[in-house]
Amino acid sequence: MITIQNLICDFPDGDGKTLRALSVPSFSLEDGGMAVITGPSGSGKTTFLHCLSGLLTPTSGSIRIGEVQLSSLSPSERCDFRAAKVGYVFQKPLLLSYLTVKENIRLSASLSGGSADDDTISSLLHRVGLSGLEERKADHLSGGQQQRVSFLRAIVRRPALLLADEPTAALDEENGKKLMDFMLDYQRETGCFLLCATHDKRVMDRFPLRYDVQKGAFL
Ligand code: ADP
Ligand code: MG
Repeated sequence: MITIQNLICDFPDGDGKTLRALSVPSFSLEDGGMAVITGPSGSGKTTFLHCLSGLLTPTSGSIRIGEVQLSSLSPSERCDFRAAKVGYVFQKPLLLSYLTVKENIRLSASLSGGSADDDTISSLLHRVGLSGLEERKADHLSGGQQQRVSFLRAIVRRPALLLADEPTAALDEENGKKLMDFMLDYQRETGCFLLCATHDKRVMDRFPLRYDVQKGAFL
């Protein structure tokens, strides 16, 4: 189960004041649960996912994921937690540009203690419509292709917590649907937690549970 209590995330606003980017009094998600986070740009969706991943330390509040209390972990324990448990599909793909598609995916698997052979990588690429791009350098991909590789890089880790930040933003209808089919299949197969931030109505409609964020407040 994921349990969040009194989560606050403030940032400096650049004028010597603070901006409340996120305020979540209470949030929970059952084991095997999935939810979509919606809300306008700047409302706090990415901040929420960053807090859950352990990438960002909140100003206050508690986040418990299964048996792990994130706030009680040291920075290096948080890194270990991310490596072992979290698959994160970043809003900007952040691939390693000097590596090939295959190397980007394989590196992600190995950083989480796993591995991915050539056949596994080819079949992952096939699932998202990228067959034959194994040896292509990441900086020779279109934005939509990078986004799909970024998704595979998260999935190949077999994460217990999958966080996806606007995963279809650069995709056309057909490829967006393929990616969502795969994401939801993975969730069903593994029973992982899945939290997905999106503006995309077609993505929202595929989740049983929706939270709307407005100016940092969960509604
Ligand atoms: P969303 O993902 O919904 O577009 P974000 O979570 O990225 O929203 O941002 C929420 C608010 O926090 C915005 O007002 C944004 O400007 C602010 N913010 C996000 N990250 C930072 C940061 N590192 N420093 C200062 N302000 C930030
Ligand atoms: Mg965002």
